[in-house]
Amino acid sequence: HVAKTSHSKLVCYDDEQNNYDPDRLAMIGQLRAGIDNDELRLHYQPKIDQPGGRVTCVEALVRWQHPDRGLLSPDQFVPLAEQTGLIDDLTRWVLTTALRQLTVWRRVRDDLTVAVNISERSLNHLDLPQMVFDALNETGAAASSLVLEITEGALTSDPDRAGLVMQHLSGAGVQLSLDDFGEGFTSLSTLAELPLNELKVDRIFVQDMLNGPNDAAIVRSVVELGHNLNMTVVAEGVESAEILAALNELGVNAAQGYFFTPPLPSTEIMDWISANTPATMNGDEPPP
Ligand code: C2E
Ligand code: MG
Ligand code: MG
Ligand code: MG
Repeated sequence: HVAKTSHSKLVCYDDEQNNYDPDRLAMIGQLRAGIDNDELRLHYQPKIDQPGGRVTCVEALVRWQHPDRGLLSPDQFVPLAEQTGLIDDLTRWVLTTALRQLTVWRRVRDDLTVAVNISERSLNHLDLPQMVFDALNETGAAASSLVLEITEGALTSDPDRAGLVMQHLSGAGVQLSLDDFGEGFTSLSTLAELPLNELKVDRIFVQDMLNGPNDAAIVRSVVELGHNLNMTVVAEGVESAEILAALNELGVNAAQGYFFTPPLPSTEIMDWISANTPATMNGDEPPP
């Protein structure tokens, strides 16, 4: 089905969806208004360098402060945005907000970078690089201070187009990370050809790595694969000291998860970073 929205953009609906479900239609209208009315929020979760403990990147994770349903998690509205074309407006808002925030944080931490999640649909959009460059120009942030996290699905649905978009972004200095790695079916040759800086091991493997030999073997293989392809390897979903120790033994470059902290509002994340940076590395303030 093809329909026109009030913004007169072409919108393609998935056929399997019940497009005329009144709740769904109401949510679409509310989300469109919510983006315009500043109801979206960003929480930030640090990636902690291993073994040193320094934070060099924070990942922006979107939430929606719904007028009557409370704070919604991305799983409750990002898929809807992807299905209706609102994802472009959402991504533009996330990019601009995260980069604007980063320029403020960089006054005290000039090596901090911010990671933004890019949906499968956006990565297959040839307009994505221009949207990213506009956000960089508008906020004055350096391309190298931005990491885009993309999921494997985007690479399998249209690898040629995704590759083109990635080359364009990478050529301009933007860093690229492959999120939730291990769940999809990216071929090794695709992986080697793409300009990726980072692999993130999916948390399903990380969380079970002490329970069975298979998940540990997968994590070990991903770390080796990433390193052989000159990528940084990050483990997501780290919930215990035991798992962190096992990851360190395998040589992961960074870790992220509730063991350190859940995603935090922008007002709290810098305090968390200052409080948790090893003293020997906290070169931000001159000694008294
Ligand atoms: P992701 O990018 O893989 O992000 C990791 C998710 O795992 C986040 O959920 C995070 O809060 C959660 N998490 C972090 N540490 C742990 C842990 O130790 N244990 C467990 N069980 N979970 C942990 P969240 O914020 O609900 O985001 C879910 C997904 O929504 C993200 O997965 C990402 O794919 C998507 N998403 C989030 N923000 C955006 C956005 O701005 N744009 C797009 N397109 N997608 C987004
Ligand atoms: Mg991510
Ligand atoms: Mg992930
Ligand atoms: Mg995940």
